[in-house]
Amino acid sequence: MNYELLEQDIQFLPGVGPNRKKMLSQELGIETFGDLLQYYPYKHVDRSRLYSIRELTGDMPFVQVKGHILSFETFKMSARKERVVAHFTDGSGKVMDLTWFNGGKYAKQSYKIGTEYIIFGRPNVFNGRINVTHPDIDAADKLELSTMGMQPYYNTTEKMKKSGLNSRCVERFIKTLLDVIKEPLPETLPDFITNRLHLMSRDEALRKIHYPQNSSELEKARVRLKFEELFYVQLNILRYASDHRRKYRGYIFSKVGDCFNSFYHDHLPFQLTEAQKRVIREIRKDTGSGRQMNRLLQGDVGSGKTLVALMSMLIALDNGYQACIMAPTEILAEQHLQTIQDFLHGMDIRVELLTGIVKGKKRQEVLEGLQDGRVQILVGTHAVIEDTVQFANLGMVVVDEQHRFGVAQRAKLWSKNTNPPHVLVMTATPIPRTLAMTLYGDLDVSVIDELPPGRKPVVTTHVLDRSMPSLYDGLRKQINQGRQVYIVFPLIEESEKIDLKNLEDGFEVLRQVFPEFRLSKVHGKMKPKDKEEEMQRFVKGETQMLVATTVIEVGVNVPNASVMVILEAQRFGLSQLHQLRGRVGRGADQSYCILVTNPQLSEDTRKRIDIMCETNDGFRIAEADLKLRGPGDLEGTQQSGMAFDLKIADIARDGQLVQMARNEAQMIIEDDPACVSNKYLMLWNRLRQLRKTNVNWAAIS
Ligand code: ADP
Ligand code: MG
Repeated sequence: MNYELLEQDIQFLPGVGPNRKKMLSQELGIETFGDLLQYYPYKHVDRSRLYSIRELTGDMPFVQVKGHILSFETFKMSARKERVVAHFTDGSGKVMDLTWFNGGKYAKQSYKIGTEYIIFGRPNVFNGRINVTHPDIDAADKLELSTMGMQPYYNTTEKMKKSGLNSRCVERFIKTLLDVIKEPLPETLPDFITNRLHLMSRDEALRKIHYPQNSSELEKARVRLKFEELFYVQLNILRYASDHRRKYRGYIFSKVGDCFNSFYHDHLPFQLTEAQKRVIREIRKDTGSGRQMNRLLQGDVGSGKTLVALMSMLIALDNGYQACIMAPTEILAEQHLQTIQDFLHGMDIRVELLTGIVKGKKRQEVLEGLQDGRVQILVGTHAVIEDTVQFANLGMVVVDEQHRFGVAQRAKLWSKNTNPPHVLVMTATPIPRTLAMTLYGDLDVSVIDELPPGRKPVVTTHVLDRSMPSLYDGLRKQINQGRQVYIVFPLIEESEKIDLKNLEDGFEVLRQVFPEFRLSKVHGKMKPKDKEEEMQRFVKGETQMLVATTVIEVGVNVPNASVMVILEAQRFGLSQLHQLRGRVGRGADQSYCILVTNPQLSEDTRKRIDIMCETNDGFRIAEADLKLRGPGDLEGTQQSGMAFDLKIADIARDGQLVQMARNEAQMIIEDDPACVSNKYLMLWNRLRQLRKTNVNWAAIS
């Protein structure tokens, strides 16, 4: 019965009605009773007791005090600004101050001297007196909710606030709702889990998450709801993987033949690192097993993933299959083509490129070659592959992905194929374990944890923009020693025009500063052909300085380049900075990465810069990135197919719970790989229900 109640239209909740429903649905996506119940508060404030002024100190959290205002005082701060202070007493003879920097006039009009109020806020000490800035004030006789305990606070939008729909109002709806829901809410986790892990019941958790008695109760409610969320995500991923394994056989690459051997013995210009060898062995084992390979290859920038990918593709060729490698952008696809053609130079292997810019007759040729099997290796973009490209016998797909190719996207690949190829996903930025478990939870993982020999770690420094002149001297020295230099300008979509002008102006300045050198300029708005030409000039060493927007992030490999200067570094995300830095340090010389910013840095920016200067370790940087920004913001995760919404759990902060959820889900899938056992019926039903009601979840069914 309760499922039905939870599906009720929110407008029928007493106090809501059609107008407020419209607002709730438009602004917060709340359509039903159930949606509202799961609109969790972002914080609670302990309103369970009143404090006396005597008890207050400057380092307390939020407190409430009952008393009355003795008088108001106004201080002029500037021509247009004033500060209003109310002297407030709780009757004990002690006085504290309430201060408004904004809205003081309104406060003076609204609050009466002598009336009994409950004020609420965070105390601090100012001029030796206890002071609360911008307090919440309620008439003491009107305050019913907040005397009960922990008061929940809900996020609302500006638009909602303007029409009086604030946190308090949402709180009232929730309270009404909890009264309406009389029967216990149905349990969604089996006893054996809730008992063993000592989890709160779902009914209790959904009530206490809004109205806990105290903070430990709140914590228990949160743990229960987070666990449940993460558990079903993991169960869904593992179910998917198990299903997949049972449904699809993998092509068997039984031998290593001429392509691989001839490349390995006669064409490979250097020794493989131990890590590369290990990963190739892992791939070799997978592809020979009869199981379809789904493998994630993690490795820092420059660790030599592309080569591993190429050698895996050669094994596919040796067994009579075609292979394809997909890149997230056209430039990177072109770069891969170049790299692969260079490596395979002198071998009789047909490699072709297919991106949006390959058109007309050439495109036709490539498509035909794919269909009749003469094209052996295809290099393309994700978009192309998701299209209607037909292969004769595609045996191996490499996805060079940069966070944009999660479970849902890969699932699409299968839907076209009865016999799916082996899949190797490469990530340029290492992904923290807990995120990988969720984004790529159905994959086996290989790690290249070793850089090719002879690389010196890049030295990273932070420089303020006013020190540019001495930076120029340093660059001049490097170039005079025969090195090359990258200078990166930020470019983000919203301010593209300004940024482009920035780049043009900056380029002119640099030309004047360095009249003796040849400079290249590259940005995203250039024609691909011009861009390519300009890049090539730099690659060949004809120009000494490449002035560019982030287009270079994805591609070029110039071992002679030893300095990466990133201007307005505060505008780049951590993983972007790390990627850019990966462009240098590829040769044998000492390389440098210089992050230039203005002096006014936010705390987060300061942290980003510090981490960059401290470490070259991509995993540490990825962890820090996840902590600083949260997974929602992690570059590209939105498009990457986090195939579900997390309402309360946070993959960055709840790592332990992710692991717990994973373990539980794993045990169940191992026990019941076909997901049919009666023992777990409740789980399979719940999963079906989640997939039906949640658009994102449906993406990987
Ligand atoms: P990733 O794709 O992991 O960022 P790349 O595959 O682009 O790294 O490799 C970076 C550079 O190192 C390339 O120039 C590549 O040819 C070179 N390289 C790869 N493996 C080795 C190795 N074992 N020894 C020396 N150089 C290598
Ligand atoms: Mg690469």
